[in-house]
Amino acid sequence: MARRKLVYEGKAKILYEGPEPGTLVQYFKDDATAFNAEKKDVIDGKGVLNNRLSEFFMTGLQRIGVPTHFIKRLNMREQLIRQVEIIPLEVIVRNFAAGTMAKRLGLEEGTPLPRPIVEFSYKDDNLGDPLVPEEYIIAFGWATQQDMDDIVALALRVNDFMAGVMHGVGIKLVDFKIEIGRIWENDFMRLIVADEISPDSCRLWDIETDRKLDKDVFRRDLGDLADAYTEVARRLGVLPKNTTPGPKPTLIN
Ligand code: 5GP
Repeated sequence: MARRKLVYEGKAKILYEGPEPGTLVQYFKDDATAFNAEKKDVIDGKGVLNNRLSEFFMTGLQRIGVPTHFIKRLNMREQLIRQVEIIPLEVIVRNFAAGTMAKRLGLEEGTPLPRPIVEFSYKDDNLGDPLVPEEYIIAFGWATQQDMDDIVALALRVNDFMAGVMHGVGIKLVDFKIEIGRIWENDFMRLIVADEISPDSCRLWDIETDRKLDKDVFRRDLGDLADAYTEVARRLGVLPKNTTPGPKPTLIN
């Protein structure tokens, strides 16, 4: 196997140097973590499913004109992506109250919100990704006011697309998280959707039964996580033929 350089290893993914400058290879691991990695497990097949699902959502977004980092899927666990400079924010869009919002405001989970709400967390595991107001983001120079306007517009387009696609297969998009990266084309900077879009980063509930089909199954011990993700992939018609885990990656620094 050709040697390749590890660029970054996160909780659920590994980034390797790509074949050409400005590209990376994104490898989806089977590792599941929650509560800032206090809870950990390995879920066989999760990486394969998330690779496919993220490909499905990112290509769909590109087809409607939303720029993303996705270039092409390489194999069961890897995709070729554009290298971006990640803005250190988790951009969260909520359609129904759940998770930290439900807790913070004492709302019952599943309460419909008056309109989609976009919020931001500062990406820092040591701090537990704290919620931050736009004022902080601009004052600390993580993004400009213009960037923030563009990020909100992008996030709402992703929400409309994702909510529509999921509704078509009987799933309610409760909320989701995306990350945004900067790329430069000549002298122009553009903001594009990066990281991944998968049941790891969304809350997805069956419309009829409210059955959870996302990472809350793992966070809250609600059953088999791979079964839930497989159900999402099956409904979307993106179930890979074989989800048995492949060989583990060899890390070469
Ligand atoms: P909450 O703030 O309610 O915990 O999360 C809101 C949404 O963002 C949920 O869909 C959740 O899965 C996603 N989310 C929040 N933080 C993270 C994170 O650190 N990693 C991932 N993958 N998703 C997150």
